[in-house]
Amino acid sequence: MKTKTSLRIDNRHIGVIILVIVALLANGKPTRAQTNDGVKLVLQITVDGLRGDLLNRYEDGFGKGGFRLLMEKGIVYTNAHYQHANTETIVGHTTLATGTFPSQHGMIGNVWFDREAGELAYNIEDPDHPILATRENESIGEQVDPAQKKSRTQGRSPAVILAPTFGDGLAAYYGGRSKIFGVSGKDRSAVSMAGHVGKAFWYSINTGDFVTSTYYYEVYPDWVGNWNAQRKAEGYGGKSWSLLNDASNYLLGGQDDRPYEADLKGYGRVFPHPFGPVNDTLFATRILVSPIGDQLTLDFSKALIQYEQLGQDDIPDYLSISFSSVDAVNHFFGPSSLENEDVVVQLDRTLADLFSFIDKTVGLKHTLVVLAADHGMADMPEYMTELGFEAGRLQPDEIVKTANEVGKRFGIDEVVRFFYRPYLYLDDEKIAAVKLDRTKVEHAIADALTDFDGIALAVASSRLSTQHTNPLIAQVRNNTHVSRSGDIYIIQEPYWFLFDKGPIAAMHGSPWRYDTHVPIIFFGSAIQPKMVHRRVHPVDVAPTIAAILGMTPPGSAEGSALEEVLR
Ligand SMILES: [Zn+2]
Repeated sequence: MKTKTSLRIDNRHIGVIILVIVALLANGKPTRAQTNDGVKLVLQITVDGLRGDLLNRYEDGFGKGGFRLLMEKGIVYTNAHYQHANTETIVGHTTLATGTFPSQHGMIGNVWFDREAGELAYNIEDPDHPILATRENESIGEQVDPAQKKSRTQGRSPAVILAPTFGDGLAAYYGGRSKIFGVSGKDRSAVSMAGHVGKAFWYSINTGDFVTSTYYYEVYPDWVGNWNAQRKAEGYGGKSWSLLNDASNYLLGGQDDRPYEADLKGYGRVFPHPFGPVNDTLFATRILVSPIGDQLTLDFSKALIQYEQLGQDDIPDYLSISFSSVDAVNHFFGPSSLENEDVVVQLDRTLADLFSFIDKTVGLKHTLVVLAADHGMADMPEYMTELGFEAGRLQPDEIVKTANEVGKRFGIDEVVRFFYRPYLYLDDEKIAAVKLDRTKVEHAIADALTDFDGIALAVASSRLSTQHTNPLIAQVRNNTHVSRSGDIYIIQEPYWFLFDKGPIAAMHGSPWRYDTHVPIIFFGSAIQPKMVHRRVHPVDVAPTIAAILGMTPPGSAEGSALEEVLR
């Protein structure tokens, strides 16, 4: 039987304890909360559209050093969900960067209706900051991204982002001495993560170059000019995207040729997918809709790390890399396609290459790696119907028609001013002209739309404060910005899409779990491996990074530092 003497602390023990404390203090590391924990580089990786279950689904295909390294050596959150309703790219990225909701950071969707201008606005467009040209004669690529297609100008900047990012706080903390960069296959995913004080570069679907705008630079740094001069994308002219392994080695080996997948004008529905000639207006887009898009993003990021000397001193630097090809592939082929499995498996190799490079240049022990995604992805309604789950596509015209019919009952002709999923904007002047209670009209339209086949709930903004019982309401409320959000938020039923099949086939953007569920993994530095199954949220990511570095959370952050990472 043990006696209490074994727990007694005598003078000898106190001496040892004091020595340990002195040694710790001399080492400059009293506690994690008061230091930057030896972190020289924060590497924030976002995989666009990497739904929360895809790492499990494809794990057998992973090699060493990529996703497997993170899954085995990192703190892995298996149950992380966005809390906003409109699960789109700019919304998710800005939430990761700022630690707050769209209601605060203002990025309520990839596009929204600009009530003052009377037209759609693309999130980060800025006419005052045009893109810096990389070539004398730029070919113009055909834009197939439905959100970017709505952009009124070629200028880009973070001016409309209303909250500070982690990077903004890092700059302030270290007196502007931290180097802060965002790189991505997409403009909005680079700009949002670079924040207001960092610098952003993104892939151009016109040229295959990595570009920036006059918000960040007056002229390109030499190393960027040199990288672009190599015209690496063009090296894939006439080539194809082929499977990394034999089709029989894939879980979804039988899911290649499905009639509801989209063909990007000759890119085809089955492997191999030909990129076409360099002068094809869709060439650079097809490169992005393949593992090559991620490989080029890595190659450019390596040059950035090298020439900007990231992580080479004791002032922590920040690099965000957002890989866009998984999402691009999802949109054309769906998340349950052979293409999806191959692009994730090939990204695994790209990540292994990235981590190996970081280990050589900065050292993984000096790097805090955070991996997450900006949203998940829905399986296509045609696929779900084939399996026996009834789903479909809602035609925007029919939604507008139904709302306008309700308006007529109140004596208003064409009460809908604008509809772009998920928001319906009503015509305030017309409602005012008939001298009716505005909320009465709004509620009548929302009720009629809720009865519509394929719509789960149409939420009138005037009801947001009263409809407490439905959990969907909280997601819509988090998505509501006072001047940018519309009057009625339309939530489709699970697996229904709020758009017709066009150049792209599949979509995210709903408040359902397949769109909110994303991986969150912390790895490197002093992180001890752990699997965490409790529910956490992407708003927690920025406050956690800040806490590890001993900093205050970003100014508008509503999330909390994750305790498993801080222990
Ligand atoms: Zn996205």
